[in-house]
Amino acid sequence: METIRDDFQGSDRRAVKALNIIIVGAGIGGLTAGIALAHTGHCVTIFETVSEITDVGAGIQIAPNAARILHRLDVLRDVMDHATVLERVSVRYVDMCSRNWLVANISRRYTSDDEMATFPLLPANGLKYGAPMGVIHRGDLQNILLNKALELGCHIFTNHKVMAVDPKFSAKVHVHDGTTGERFWLSADMVIAADGVKSHIRQQMMTSKGYKDEPIPTGDAAYRLLIPRNRVLDDPLTLSMMDKNVAMRYMGPGGHIMAYPIRGSSLYNIVLLHPAKSETLSEDVWTSKGSREDMLKFCAGWSPAVQKWLAHADEDVLEWNLHVYPDLPTWTQGNVALLGDACHPMLPYVAQGAANAMEDAAVLATALTCTSNVRLALKMYETIRKSRAEKIAAGATATAYTLHMPDGPEQVARDQGLVSPGAAKQN
Ligand code: FAD
Repeated sequence: METIRDDFQGSDRRAVKALNIIIVGAGIGGLTAGIALAHTGHCVTIFETVSEITDVGAGIQIAPNAARILHRLDVLRDVMDHATVLERVSVRYVDMCSRNWLVANISRRYTSDDEMATFPLLPANGLKYGAPMGVIHRGDLQNILLNKALELGCHIFTNHKVMAVDPKFSAKVHVHDGTTGERFWLSADMVIAADGVKSHIRQQMMTSKGYKDEPIPTGDAAYRLLIPRNRVLDDPLTLSMMDKNVAMRYMGPGGHIMAYPIRGSSLYNIVLLHPAKSETLSEDVWTSKGSREDMLKFCAGWSPAVQKWLAHADEDVLEWNLHVYPDLPTWTQGNVALLGDACHPMLPYVAQGAANAMEDAAVLATALTCTSNVRLALKMYETIRKSRAEKIAAGATATAYTLHMPDGPEQVARDQGLVSPGAAKQN
C-alpha cells in the first residue's frame, strides 16, 4: 500500500458527535457521502427519487484522486474487480488490486490511425498522483457504493423525492413517497443535497439569495455509445481495440473521441464530442436520443478505426447537450449544503465530475471529525472544496478548446507539443 497517498485522514477518526444526516440523492456523490459519514459514526438517511437503482450511464473514469478516497472507504478492491482488466500491470500496485488499471492514453489525429503520442498512465501517472487510474461502468460503481452504504447502516429510501428543504434552511426536508403518495416533513441535524446537475435544492437556495441559476449551452454535445463485444466478433480491428487496456483519444476540428473497454472488455465505451444541433441546444439530460445517421455524417472523414467502431452503433444513440453552470455564490445555507454536481457541474473533458463529488464527501466527513458545530463544519467544507472544484470545472471548459482546435498553426503546435510515443517507454 506504500504507493497510495492518503488524503482522507478523517476515515480512521470518529465524528466529534454523532449526527442525524439526511442526504438527497443516491448518485455517486450522495452514496459516497453516506459511506464516509456512516464510517465516522453518523446516522445517515438517503432519499432517492428513482424507484430502483439500475444500470444507468456508461463508462466513468476513476482518477487517482477518486481511487485514493475509495481505498480509504474500503471499496476500492470491489470497484477494481469491476473495472477494466488490464493486460499490463505494474507490480507496485499488486498489493492494492492486481490487475484493473488503464495503462496508457493514446492520442491520434482523427484522419489517421497513426499514433501521435502516448501518455503513460501506469506506472508514471500512478506514481505521480499516488494511485493509478481505472474505468468502470457507472452502474457498477453506483451499485458497489449502494451495497457499502447499506452494509454501514445507511437508511436508503428509493421512490422518495425530496420536494424542498425548509425555507429557513434548517435541516428539514419535505418528502414525497412515490409508493404511497404520502408527503411528510423530516428533520435532522444536517441536509446534504447531492441531487445532481439539475438540483432542485440548489435552485431553492439560489432563489432565496436572489441569484439566477441558469445553465449556458456550450454548443457541444456528446454521443455516448456502448458497443457489446458479441457485435464485433467478425471485426478483428475493433475486437483488438477492446482487448487492449488502453484509452483511445482522437482529436479533430470541433470534436473528439474518447474510447475504452469496460466490464472485462465485454463493452466498448465511446464518447464522441461534436457540435450540438441548434434545435436541441437547451436540452440538458443524460438520456436524450440522438441520430445515428447524424453521428456517422459528422465522422465521415475520420479514421478507418473510428468508422468501424461507429458502424456497430445502435440506431438510438444517446446524445447529451453540454452546458456550463456559472460558479455559485455559496454552497451552504443554514444547516444545508450542496455536494457533487449539484454545486459544481463539470464538462466531461477532464473526467472529474464523480471524482470531485467523492472529494466533497471525504472533506465533509473529515470536517465533522474536527467540530460538532454543523455550520462551522459546513463552512470548512465549502472553504476547502469550492475553489478547487471551480478551478477544475474551469479547466474542463478550457480543455474543450484544446481538444477541438480547427486545423491550423495552433493545432500543429498543440500536436507537436504532445509527448512522443518513445517517451512512454522511458517512464
Ligand atoms: P448524480 O450521479 O447525477 O446523482 C444525483 C442523484 O440524485 C440521482 O440518483 C437522482 O435521481 C437523485 N435526485 C435528483 N433529484 C432528487 C430529489 N429531488 N430527491 C431525491 N433524489 C433526487 N457520468 C459519467 O462520467 N458517465 C456516465 O455515463 C454518466 N451517466 C450518468 C447517468 C445518469 C442517469 C446520471 C444521473 C448521471 C450520470 N453521470 C455519468 C454523471 C456522474 O454520475 C456525475 O457527474 C457524478 O458522479 C456526480 O455525482 P452526483 O452524485 O453529484 O450526481
